[in-house]
Amino acid sequence: MNYLDKQIEYLKGVGPQRAESLQKELGVFTFRDLLLYYPFRYVDKTKITPIKSILSEGESVFLRGKIVRITPVTINNRKHLVAVFKDSTGSIELRWFAGIQWILKTIKEGNEYFVYGKTAFFKRIFISHPEIELISEEGEEKTSSGLQPVYPSTEKLKSKFLDSRGIAKLTKTLISGLNNNDVEEILPQRVVSKYKFINPHQAFQQIHFPENDKQMNEALERLKFEELFLTQIRMMGIKMQRHQETKGIVLTYINGRFDLFFKQKLQFELTNAQKKVLKEIRKDVLSGKQMNRLLQGDVGSGKTIVALMTMLMAIDNGFQTCLMAPTEILAQQHFTTLTESLSGLDLEIALLTGSIKKSQRSEILENLKTGKTQILIGTHALIEETVVFKNLGMAVIDEQHRFGVAQRAKLWKKNDIVPHILVMTATPIPRTLAMTLYGDLDVSVIDELPPGRKNIITVHRTDSDRLRVFGFLKEEIRKGRQVYIVYPLIEESEKQDYKDLIDGHESIRRDFPMPEFLTGILHGRMKSADKDYEMKRFVKGESNIMVATTVIEVGVNVPNASVMVIESAERFGLAQLHQLRGRVGRGGEQSYCILMTHTNLSADARKRIKTMCDTQDGFIIAEVDLELRGPGNIEGTQQSGSLELKLADLGKDLKILSEAKTTAEEILTDDPLLQKQLNSSLKKYLLKNIKGEFSWNMIS
Ligand code: ADP
Ligand code: MG
Repeated sequence: MNYLDKQIEYLKGVGPQRAESLQKELGVFTFRDLLLYYPFRYVDKTKITPIKSILSEGESVFLRGKIVRITPVTINNRKHLVAVFKDSTGSIELRWFAGIQWILKTIKEGNEYFVYGKTAFFKRIFISHPEIELISEEGEEKTSSGLQPVYPSTEKLKSKFLDSRGIAKLTKTLISGLNNNDVEEILPQRVVSKYKFINPHQAFQQIHFPENDKQMNEALERLKFEELFLTQIRMMGIKMQRHQETKGIVLTYINGRFDLFFKQKLQFELTNAQKKVLKEIRKDVLSGKQMNRLLQGDVGSGKTIVALMTMLMAIDNGFQTCLMAPTEILAQQHFTTLTESLSGLDLEIALLTGSIKKSQRSEILENLKTGKTQILIGTHALIEETVVFKNLGMAVIDEQHRFGVAQRAKLWKKNDIVPHILVMTATPIPRTLAMTLYGDLDVSVIDELPPGRKNIITVHRTDSDRLRVFGFLKEEIRKGRQVYIVYPLIEESEKQDYKDLIDGHESIRRDFPMPEFLTGILHGRMKSADKDYEMKRFVKGESNIMVATTVIEVGVNVPNASVMVIESAERFGLAQLHQLRGRVGRGGEQSYCILMTHTNLSADARKRIKTMCDTQDGFIIAEVDLELRGPGNIEGTQQSGSLELKLADLGKDLKILSEAKTTAEEILTDDPLLQKQLNSSLKKYLLKNIKGEFSWNMIS
């Protein structure tokens, strides 16, 4: 057996108990898994930060000093631990919010420690959950040369003495037993020479225990390249395979409803971008291959009309269609819009959501089965097993990032021949990320807004401006406009947020008295009939203020609403702020977005607010978001499953990514099935490591 395939239990220093924890906590089952468990940073123990020099939050610091006082405190019924840490230049607080028992056991007042962590700010600067290491004379000698790897660990592992240092010790043992031929070179020799990469054995050695920055960078360059290269090869392979194997329905005719709609019903001239996308879709559905297309277009760019006309192409050829939206409100709204726009065209349109009554539901299902219903609009209720189509030809998914991969996969199975799939998103994805995430999709972009849209004036205000802000809202309402006021209720279960919302609603009603002002409220805890009622009232202009949570974030369209006030805006992410702002500026009137915040803002929050005030370009906003949060947190990437990058950072490793992509393209163009001898080790690796993945990934 290959050394790296051995069970982790048999590594010296592990044993059954620790093995179980490593499996559960880190997913480390074999020697290889541990080898691939990389440090997330390194500490140069020769570079110590004097406490006095710490000025702001977000700094990574490495300190040496003494713990002088340990105090358990209770805030809001939750236990915290605060320790004061001191060196010759000053002192700083270390704080823990979890795993307190273990910390209490490990640290002692009066002892000397290395502390590394990132500074945070709440009323004052402190370090939360630092890595901490006792300085013993023996230890100091051992660690005095080279960079020390820092591994992510967990409270459970730490209690088994597998903190960063414990993990490093195991890794050291593992690597000392590793031979050159245990790790195979999977990159073709030509590529290795071209980029002058070090060999994989060396790379593993140097990623864990680099002697200096140069060694660390050599290892990073090689391993990042390999990681991105493999992602690209896989994506391209999947796309090629799908194009070869998945037959698609050919939609020949467009001279029925499509034509009628285009010539008689369409209220406006399509933008050039919309026309371009429709042409791309038209080409897809004539190609004989299954369409699997991502439509990216900023909020308000007019994706709905493209979806509608795409569905008409399928209907003209005798197929059924469906449109899936992430929320009931949005599904309802699509239902209303589509029913209106298509009136007179003699089409059967149905709405299916979780709150549809049983009797009505069975009628809807029956009509689907017989083929009577031509357009089904709904929430994820429409991918349930019981929903059976006669012949589904086109499935559109709106705001696709809201749906998990598995949910989308179910749509594929709703017809014998896989239906064409159009997924739409208003969350602009930076180019680099799209390349990796959706490498297996064809991408269309609507990069132009319908004419006549005015710039949305965006400003930042704090509580002291509230009177002025309210005065402004009154003026706008008197001019006949409508206003959204959004509160953060990120988790519907957060009691405090819920209270803030309800209190906010009360005070708005006091400040904006009836009958001159009419206020509605909309949040996730309401019954769907009530939500519906409130939404309709606002759409019809019967209420002028809508106090709401982010349930209105996605897709809601009320053109007369011209002011968006976002309370505690610092608590929202950029993608969300951008989505929320997109609810206004949909009519002909000058629109405004007012971002209300506290006065004390973190650096990241300040940057988010400033970005919002500076630009309306969704792509710029997405780039900033990527920079601030890292790709792992960008909406849509968590569920995708295709983005398991350990080392590469899509925000920063653009150059490596494009080299990896070019290399993958060259190899597959030259040898699509990897049959040549020079690609044999790559092929062997792929076959071994991507079992079953191809079919699993055949999902938009
Ligand atoms: P989104 O891309 O955010 O889903 P919508 O499809 O909801 O945007 O479109 C926003 C608004 O713009 C709708 O009221 C729609 O009728 C209108 N619209 C779409 N395309 C055009 C166009 N070419 N000219 C004028 N108005 C348009
Ligand atoms: Mg939309």
